Amino acid sequence: MTNTKDLLKKAANGERLTPAEGLKLYTEGDPEALMEVAHEIRLRKTDPKVVTYLVDRNINYTNACTTDCQFCSFYRVPGHPEVYVISRRELGEKIEELLAWGGTRILMQGGHNPDLRIEWYEDLLRWLKATYPEIELDCFSPSEIENIALLEDMSMEDVLERLQRAGLDGLPGGGAEILDDAVRARISPKKTKTAAWLHAMRIAQRLGMVTSATMVIGFGETMEQRVASLTRLRELQDESLAAHGNGFTAFIMWTAQLSETNSLGRSRHRHKYGADYDEYLHTNAFARIYLDNFTNFQASWPTQGLETARRALYAGANDFGSTMLEENVVSQAAAYTQREPRMSVYRLHEQIRLAGFEPAQRDSRYNIVRRFDRVMTAEELAPRPIPTRLADLREPIQLTPG
Ligand code: SF4
Repeated sequence: MTNTKDLLKKAANGERLTPAEGLKLYTEGDPEALMEVAHEIRLRKTDPKVVTYLVDRNINYTNACTTDCQFCSFYRVPGHPEVYVISRRELGEKIEELLAWGGTRILMQGGHNPDLRIEWYEDLLRWLKATYPEIELDCFSPSEIENIALLEDMSMEDVLERLQRAGLDGLPGGGAEILDDAVRARISPKKTKTAAWLHAMRIAQRLGMVTSATMVIGFGETMEQRVASLTRLRELQDESLAAHGNGFTAFIMWTAQLSETNSLGRSRHRHKYGADYDEYLHTNAFARIYLDNFTNFQASWPTQGLETARRALYAGANDFGSTMLEENVVSQAAAYTQREPRMSVYRLHEQIRLAGFEPAQRDSRYNIVRRFDRVMTAEELAPRPIPTRLADLREPIQLTPG
């Protein structure tokens, strides 16, 4: 087979690498050279001066879950005293804070709560759309959709169509971890299998929703399994772009966050798990090269910290993610967000400029919302209070316990 320098040249010329070529480049190529080529490709495919970001908020609507993933520190089993389901008032207050920051979207996800039926989700989405029509609703993940489909004895297609009619704009790519069933059987045996994860995304893309692709490394998976996971994403992207032109908007990867608060972190095999910052940057660069049909790659400051996220902007990433405003999932393990749970817009600008780029605010489809051709002050980027829309709110009667 061709040597890794020729493979890099091939990729730099815009030619696709086969899975076997990809594996060789990933395992034998010089990581620094991969990062250089990944950066070249990024500069060619997206505005070379600009790094984009989103003003959004992560909201976790429930922590009840029956799926027991070994890497998860967030969930509580149904019946546990710490189980919660978010109230509309709390949700509304969070969104109003986001609006004050100039935010445009919420990313709302939760556990697989067996007490929440599809009508609960529909009512919530309808209320959100009616109350905050300017906010994009990117909610749930393929595994939550599968959970609702199983509870209701419906197809995932019917679930997604109903939720879309109720106001769902996008299906974020959470829960992909490694798209390889041998890995999934080991770390999350009750969770969505590879084919179902991809199928949920296939449907969401056909319905015109915003979708993203993710990968988490550090579960003791092999390099072959990582490449296979990326190959499956690349194939679905080809299929969706050819069929209707709506594929994944972005690829986002991070490393498994292990701590004493999750089973993998407590495992006596813990030394086999996890991945360091260099491996993160190397893998991000490889993904930029290998996923030749993706345009946008996000750096993950919440898991990797600011310095590594800035370095990722030279390893294939063109986007700095989002403000998040809160993070409750990886923060329960050892993520950077334990130290800095929210990022102000000013701080995002500061990081992007420190890395040598111009910040630009985008929406979830990566359309530019606002450009900044000069350095903005903290005062100019501070939140502006807005009038509440919750004055007449009456909480609906709970359909289910929670
Ligand atoms: S990762 Fe999601 S599905 Fe798995 S246990 Fe945590 S909340 Fe449940």
